[in-house]
Amino acid sequence: MAAKIIDGKALAADLRARIAAGVAKLERKPGLAVILVGENPASVSYVTAKEKACAEAGMVSREIRLPADVAEAALVGIIRDLNADKAIDGILVQLPLPSHIRGQAVIDAIAPEKDVDGFTPVNLGRMMIGEECFIPCTPHGIVKLIEFSGMDISGRHAVVVGRSNIVGKPVAQLLASKRLNATVTVCHSGTRDLGAFTREADILVVAAGRPGTITADMVKRGATIIDVGVNRIPDPTRPKGFRLAGDVDFAACSEVAAAITPVPGGVGPMTITMLLWNTLESARRAQRR
Ligand code: NDP
Repeated sequence: MAAKIIDGKALAADLRARIAAGVAKLERKPGLAVILVGENPASVSYVTAKEKACAEAGMVSREIRLPADVAEAALVGIIRDLNADKAIDGILVQLPLPSHIRGQAVIDAIAPEKDVDGFTPVNLGRMMIGEECFIPCTPHGIVKLIEFSGMDISGRHAVVVGRSNIVGKPVAQLLASKRLNATVTVCHSGTRDLGAFTREADILVVAAGRPGTITADMVKRGATIIDVGVNRIPDPTRPKGFRLAGDVDFAACSEVAAAITPVPGGVGPMTITMLLWNTLESARRAQRR
């Protein structure tokens, strides 16, 4: 039987309507600063999507485009100015950054109370010890999608493929939290016999960034699969010359899993939605101060 499709677009639309209603109640519109360095086409398209979503939710986005050769100190200076800007509730630096810029140094410059991506050590540390924080958007969206699928996470075995600071590690941390209560295994490029682990997963979160990482023989019957990967596959028949694919062999795995996210239309819309969520929360906190 084909798996149920976990519709990230539908869940995102529902949450965005609630976020817009929350925005409408505020005295001052939430402001999100989006910093884009260089012209990476994927980054440009992510930034455009984030700004559009911001406007639709009634928020103000301020785009700051910088040349690819901008100095790290100049970028940090811009962030410090935004930290002090009362009209700005959230600061987002689109990753990846050019290689001459130390990504962590830039993230460290963002004031934790405006770190709506949840990437600063302060927010990640707070998440780790279960304190109030901004949860990183993609992991937060993944958890919402699993809950939306109807699965009871508690006591289940979740296998996370990938250990990046922005997806793999935080989603593993969230799933293993007392609230969600899953038993978590984290796999990475050093894992021997990946399939031996993924076949044990009730919940399989795949964030490897490689198409075809998960094939049907690696999936437990009845599993819930969250495919985080976004890969551009060259396709001359498409107007843009490529199509998007996840890390999971969607068609074949759909025959084994109970529920699965599509790519596009799964995790992507939820990532942007949780960014809006955090920006609204930041604005609420600022307007209470
Ligand atoms: P990274 O490249 O930072 O991390 C990839 C992780 O996957 C690493 O931990 C790596 O292991 C592991 N890995 C790679 N290949 C394998 C393999 N064959 N078997 C097991 N583990 C493997 O990527 P990100 O975490 O930033 O992103 C992952 C994917 O998710 C990308 O496709 C990205 O575009 C997408 N993404 C999508 C988002 C969305 O909103 N839809 C948001 C963010 C990311 P090691 O640590 O050993 O190198």
